[in-house]
Amino acid sequence: MSHIGEDGQRKLSESHAMIVGVGALGCVSADLLVRAGVGIVTIVDRDLVEISNLHRQGLYSEADAIEKKPKAVAARDRLRAANSGVEVRTHIADFTSENALSLIEGGGVPDVLIDGTDNFETRFLINDCSVKLGVPYVYGGAISTQGSAAVFVPGSGPCLRCVQPNPPKPGTQATCESAGVVGAVSSIIGSYQAAEAMKVLMGQMDRVMGSMLSFDLWEGQRTRVELGDAKDPECPCCGKGAFEFLEARGAPPQALCGQHAVQVSGGSSMIDLRRLGAGLEGFEVKDYMIRGMVEHGGERFELTCFADGRAIINGTDDVGLARVIYSRYIGI
Ligand SMILES: [Zn+2]
Repeated sequence: MSHIGEDGQRKLSESHAMIVGVGALGCVSADLLVRAGVGIVTIVDRDLVEISNLHRQGLYSEADAIEKKPKAVAARDRLRAANSGVEVRTHIADFTSENALSLIEGGGVPDVLIDGTDNFETRFLINDCSVKLGVPYVYGGAISTQGSAAVFVPGSGPCLRCVQPNPPKPGTQATCESAGVVGAVSSIIGSYQAAEAMKVLMGQMDRVMGSMLSFDLWEGQRTRVELGDAKDPECPCCGKGAFEFLEARGAPPQALCGQHAVQVSGGSSMIDLRRLGAGLEGFEVKDYMIRGMVEHGGERFELTCFADGRAIINGTDDVGLARVIYSRYIGI
């Protein structure tokens, strides 16, 4: 292909892409980039595969959902089977202000950061990392029948905060829980993201999309807003160098979108899963997680805990209750 060629293919094979979140968008871009022969693809994801994901998250199967595999593990297995020549690295982790820089810098700083998230807090955190480290950020969002994509290249254009100074207030936006996502929308946005990432990785910066593309697949509408003049010298992030999302500390427990489950962050140290799992009756113990049923107040909940101390408690949306269950069974 003339747009890629031998030189482009070589550059791809020597490059490193990080995808934050392998949900609807991340599944598409990860699949395309691995099949395209990007040298290293690092994926970060905190969630477990659910049946309700399958209509739009093409890397997963019913068996993954029944097993409730971590998405990072299920995605890695599928991607390695698709192209064993690509080094697929995984982190079963929430991408937070506390670990974002170490996740990015730990394996050598990637050449591009790709947004596969479903929330604005994480997008603003990726934006901070992008500007601080000078790594291009490929933005994507998909909700209901609408999608949008853009590329923010530090030093040569605006950042996300130039265009949108702050995340929307909680409760003001449709979420994947309240509105769902049409699989065709996330496929299109994920494909745009993969194409833009490939241009960045091949050094074809003059071909990178200089606009925010948005569309509504049901209404047949498509808009493009040029970003050429959008750089704001007063931008707190790229203008003033204040990385407010990166500097925020302490992630509170949070209900997970559409899952009747709550995530509780661990402390800062790794835990001995085998020892912890051996002390909990009936728990399944794997290298990367333990899982079993626990009882509290006469009700039963499923508890999954990862090596970084993070846990997902299924069967409740009550963050206070989840915190109590966490302290009782994980105890840190
Ligand atoms: Zn900015």
